[in-house]
Order: sequence, then structure tokens, then C-alpha cells
Amino acid sequence: MFRWQKLTDARGRKWEACDVRDAIAASGLSREQLVLPGQTTPFYQGLLLGGTLIVFLWWLVAKLFFPMLLDIPLWSLSGLTLYGLLFFVPGTIFGIELARNGWHSPRYAIEAMTHAGLCASCGYRINSLQPDSDGCTVCPECGAAWRMP
Ligand SMILES: [Zn+2]
Repeated sequence: MFRWQKLTDARGRKWEACDVRDAIAASGLSREQLVLPGQTTPFYQGLLLGGTLIVFLWWLVAKLFFPMLLDIPLWSLSGLTLYGLLFFVPGTIFGIELARNGWHSPRYAIEAMTHAGLCASCGYRINSLQPDSDGCTVCPECGAAWRMP
């Protein structure tokens, strides 16, 4: 999941998501205990996002400051090499990072975190706390409210 996606808790309030790396650090759980396959961002999404972003930024910088770089035709050996490197090198890094530490969607983040007994927003352990009368367990660290499975 990407940072701009927000989690909606059981009372309808929006929260930042705790990414997988922070959740592991906060809980002491292993990656295998916390995350099921498919709950993190698919590699290709990070590849497309990261690659496209870097190519666009490169194009913008070239357009503003080094317009002669845009004379390199895309369909040439140097053009394909340049744009291929610009796309695939950062794209692969983004893809690997998000596949390891980024949730696929808010729903998966909440499922995985509450299943592990953690607050989905900050990673605090909340499964031993008494739920409120509406069935929500309120995190004492950040105030997010979750229905624990
Ligand atoms: Zn919390």
C-alpha cells in the first residue's frame, strides 16, 4: 500500500498505515507471522510507479535544464538503453521495497495487523485489551479503534 492511502478504522476515522517494516519493529513478530502472501503490494505495481516517476522526473529536468538530452531518439540503441535504465533500475528498487514493506490495500493492512493482535495504525499490541461496548478495541497509543478478529 502506498503512503497516501489511509486506513479507515472501525469508527470511520482515517489513520496512517503502519508499514510492514515498522510493524515488525513495533511488535517483535517475524515477517512470516505478520504477513500472508498477497497482502503486500505486487512487484509490478512498484515497478510501474517507480519507473514511470523517475522517467518523468528525468524528462522534466532535461526539458528545463538540458534540452539537448531530449534529442536522443527513443527507438535507438542509446535511447532504449537510457530509458530502459531510467525505468527498470529505480522501478526494480521500488518494486522490491513495496513488495516487502508496502501493504497491497488498506483492507489487507487491517486484516494482517488485527489478526496479529496489533493496532493497524501504530503497531501497538492491543489484543489483550478489553473492547468498548461497541465492540471496538481502542489503541491507547494512537486512539484508532479496531474490531479484533
Ligand atoms: Zn495505535
